[in-house]
Amino acid sequence: MPDVNFHIARLADYAVKNGLISRADKTWALNMLSAALRLDSFKEPPDIDDNLPQYPSGILSEISDWAALNGLIENLPAAREILEGELCGVLTPPPSSFAAKFEEIEKHYGIKKATAWMYQKQKQCDYIKAQRVAKNLSWTADTEYGRLDITVNLSKPEKTPEEIAAVKKLGVAAFGPDAYPRCLLCRENEGYRGRLDYPARQNLRLIPLKLKGEKWFFQYSPYVYYNEHCIVLNARHADMLINKDTFVRLADFLERFPHYFIGSNADLPVVGGSILNHDHYQGGRYIFPLHNAKTRKTFKLKNLPALKCEVLDWPLSVLRFTGSRRDVLKAAGIAFDAWVNYNDPAANIRAYDAQTRHNTVTPMARIVKGKLQFDIALRNNAASKEFPGGIFHSHEKFHHIKRENIGLIEVMGLAILPGRLKSEFEELGGCLIKNDFKKIKNSPAVSKHYDWAVELAGRYRFTPENAEKILKKETGTVFAEVLQCCGVFKKTPAGDAALDSFLKTLN
Ligand SMILES: [Zn+2]
Repeated sequence: MPDVNFHIARLADYAVKNGLISRADKTWALNMLSAALRLDSFKEPPDIDDNLPQYPSGILSEISDWAALNGLIENLPAAREILEGELCGVLTPPPSSFAAKFEEIEKHYGIKKATAWMYQKQKQCDYIKAQRVAKNLSWTADTEYGRLDITVNLSKPEKTPEEIAAVKKLGVAAFGPDAYPRCLLCRENEGYRGRLDYPARQNLRLIPLKLKGEKWFFQYSPYVYYNEHCIVLNARHADMLINKDTFVRLADFLERFPHYFIGSNADLPVVGGSILNHDHYQGGRYIFPLHNAKTRKTFKLKNLPALKCEVLDWPLSVLRFTGSRRDVLKAAGIAFDAWVNYNDPAANIRAYDAQTRHNTVTPMARIVKGKLQFDIALRNNAASKEFPGGIFHSHEKFHHIKRENIGLIEVMGLAILPGRLKSEFEELGGCLIKNDFKKIKNSPAVSKHYDWAVELAGRYRFTPENAEKILKKETGTVFAEVLQCCGVFKKTPAGDAALDSFLKTLN
């Protein structure tokens, strides 16, 4: 087993080779890395291997093994991440130089090159854990709405029982008014060491932005659900709030990042994302299924003759406006104002219960052939006796696949499904091949899929060759049905009539 000095030397070489630090900083880096490992000296190893990996996680993992073996850390995934974050923090340029480099590349070579550079650097300094993300299962499924994308998330590790116990001992609240950082999206995360109950962020870097004249930041998501998945966050810890200012900020973002899409989760529970207490958007360089959606119908807005207005043929109810910045922002504002107060009891649309608002939107924007394009998904989070979890939310019969909120990424046609499905589908497929419904019914892991399995067995003959393929395809169909649950104007004659009544209120 090589000495820890060997791994330290390789890590420093990796950082020099990839331009994270300059050669002149190497001795300093070796000392800093040794100090992080509580070593009094660094001993140059005899053989240095110049066959360095693409990403540093293998080297980091060797150092964590050493640290756990020598009692420097507890051998818990979170403790290892904190130590590895500390080592990578040494090797990541400080925020001001990082941002200056980004701006320099932007100025001389354009924004596309600048984002590509930053994305690569954030992988090389192990903030984006590229090898972990590669473990996610991804496939596409053909549905009546075209291609949908499915990802089973295997990169977010579940907490081990030892970690949960260790966190309990800490006795601090990860979130709340006294917590530091206040939340996962606060700018104070940049360089934060992390705790057993909070991710290490020493290698996270932010780029300052101006949106609508206000201070915001740009960063990448550590989970990368799609190519160059970025987060744009308010410099202040302030609640999610969708209004006309949101639309201006999205358009401002695209003026600087025209090769990205940008969108916001809705600002209400049930239909919003997982974080409602810090205003933020998500973007990236990816063509989503929604972007290829066909047109359900077109319409016109008074005084905006040049603007293209469509309703998309999509399971959710989405308005698309394409045209000049002025026209699109105007139309998005008109649609938002009309929707927020819209009621249609026959269609189960109720804007308010007393003071509680139920209507909001999930806005998404990009530049298409030089024109601004906004997609406005109409959302409503009211509940009923029949649907206590939400009328326009994944209905209970689909919870065995997806019960979580349908947020921005899913509205655009990319399902993020829980990691449990990987092993569940293996077990379920095995049972379906043998027609063993008794086992399905009695299995704690797959009994939730029982009704679905019976229905599938009526339509398919499962074999070892086709089981996985069928389950993947049918997962796509379930995802389309979940999205349909969220559509406020259903694709039925009654839904079409209700949609027409709403569109009339826009003029
Ligand atoms: Zn915050």
